[in-house]
Amino acid sequence: MSVLVVGSIALDTVKTPVEEHSDLLGGSASYAALAASFFSPVKLVGIVGSDFPESEFDFWKTRKIDSEGVQRVNGKTFRWSGEYAWDLNTRETRSTALNVFEHFKPKLPGSYRKTDFVLLANIAPSLQSHVLDQMERPRFVAADTMDLWIETARKDLDALLPRVDLLILNDSEAREITKETSLIKAGRQIRKMGPRYVAIKKGEHGALLFGEDEFFSCGAYPLEDIHDPTGAGDTFAGGIAGYLAGTVSTVHFTDLRKAIIYGSVLASFCVEAFSMERLRTLSLEEINERYEMFKLMSQFEVSA
Ligand code: AMP
Repeated sequence: MSVLVVGSIALDTVKTPVEEHSDLLGGSASYAALAASFFSPVKLVGIVGSDFPESEFDFWKTRKIDSEGVQRVNGKTFRWSGEYAWDLNTRETRSTALNVFEHFKPKLPGSYRKTDFVLLANIAPSLQSHVLDQMERPRFVAADTMDLWIETARKDLDALLPRVDLLILNDSEAREITKETSLIKAGRQIRKMGPRYVAIKKGEHGALLFGEDEFFSCGAYPLEDIHDPTGAGDTFAGGIAGYLAGTVSTVHFTDLRKAIIYGSVLASFCVEAFSMERLRTLSLEEINERYEMFKLMSQFEVSA
């Protein structure tokens, strides 16, 4: 089955303590769509300006990413710039230029409306809801969000949550939205706001997954070299949604556990190079190899 992915498509400028690159492909939907495409066909929804490279459309074609839902309009593509501190965990946004994104109103092509799996990658919750309004009863809806929307669009976010099966957010956002310090309490509390499942990302410390009476915790893949953490969260969400769409028709907690590991594997590859460079050359064999390593590393009862 396919997965519909909506979110931002951007040209990013990223600075780390050792390197700086400008006008790289970025945006929540770009990362999520590429990650999902390893497991299932993707229907992409977004907006770009006249400065957006045609070569990216050609690349999407090679990856079963349908870009009919990407609006091309006159003007400049959304631009974002960020700078990382030496630990590569702390990031400061240097600038955000909405450009054509400012008047974005997602409009789904007819062929998109019956898609069974949906990933609402990080964009304003009102736009995420607007996409759902145009869909014919999807089987499973995953959504990502960020601190900006918790702070500036809380009403819209609260209205979206009951329409979402899986909410993905990071630890500081989970604490911010619930005002809880304990992530366990926060995860349970967020479930009461609507989503059936909640995934809390803890960066290099892994992720937590909450269901009604179910709980799962996993570590992150141990990496020696991180070059650019941008998009790791979007890639994680894309890997989860793509894996589910590509492998199951009804989602159970056991599927979500595996999906979380695939999401973590994809995110671990993402940060190994700037922008989407590592994901562009990645193979399914490499993904499955790292998945197996994850399995081995998580076992704690090993026969001698
Ligand atoms: P992450 O590293 O997961 O936080 O995602 C980084 C990506 O989010 C970058 O490629 C940016 O282009 C994109 N981005 C930054 N700010 C926003 C925003 N306000 N809305 C949507 N996408 C954004």
